[in-house]
Amino acid sequence: MANETASSSSNRLHLSLLENAYDSFNESVSRADLADSDSRHWKHAVLHLVHSLELFLKQRLVDEHRLFLFENVDRPTKTVSLELALKRLVALDVALDADAVRAIESAIKWRNAITHYEVDLHTAEVRANYLLLFDFIDLFHQQHFGDEGITEHVHLENREIAARMLRSSKREMLQFDGTTMHRSWPAKLLAAQKTETVSVSGVEFNRIRWGQESIWPSMRADGYVPGERCRDCAAQIGKLHGPGCCVEECPRCGGQFTYCDCEFDDSVLWDLLNENAQGLSDETPSDGA
Ligand SMILES: [Zn+2]
Ligand SMILES: [Zn+2]
Repeated sequence: MANETASSSSNRLHLSLLENAYDSFNESVSRADLADSDSRHWKHAVLHLVHSLELFLKQRLVDEHRLFLFENVDRPTKTVSLELALKRLVALDVALDADAVRAIESAIKWRNAITHYEVDLHTAEVRANYLLLFDFIDLFHQQHFGDEGITEHVHLENREIAARMLRSSKREMLQFDGTTMHRSWPAKLLAAQKTETVSVSGVEFNRIRWGQESIWPSMRADGYVPGERCRDCAAQIGKLHGPGCCVEECPRCGGQFTYCDCEFDDSVLWDLLNENAQGLSDETPSDGA
């Protein structure tokens, strides 16, 4: 994994935070290119991309102060997690708008999904989120590390691939009520409203709407209220979540609907996810537009 960009010798590898970030970014781009023909590569494409994001955020913290890199500034041994880096950057008032926070939160979600669960992800979903994050990293890089697009730091052989991804991202993402999302999403969200119940062995359960999750009574008591829209799927308050939303609560076990172990009967909700995945893969670009 040591590339020519890194100063390395036969028995030593030294990568600065930024070099390390570029290295992971490059690895991710190569994997994403392979994933077009073999979807198994998405796992490492995502993990490397999230790793590069983590390192870029850490570098940004170091630019504020070297000690911010560490979980405990009084005992600088363990460096911050991605979650803490995000929190700290927000606290430091480093310009991160709602879209940026959403992109980073969704990166955390995808990384956790891949790391902690059986890997059962729809290629189209992964690809859409990959593009969203890719685009965000490019923007973050330009804003915080001197105006250059990230593609300037991509190895020559990967540069065309990276440029193609950026073009896909620009073409496939849209603004929906102030939030950047894949253009297939609003239709999915709308379609998901039609499936109000899911069943296990014929026993029906009403799906839980955004804002009606079981945590809210105690959260409200502590002064918190649900936002106007779900942070993951952008469902409006009182509406059903979009397919695959990580916030949706399982009406049967109370766990995370997308990842719980309940064995639900067939439903158009799952079909919807599959159909959309199919539709999306069909438009997987190999374009030069
Ligand atoms: Zn949601
Ligand atoms: Zn469940």
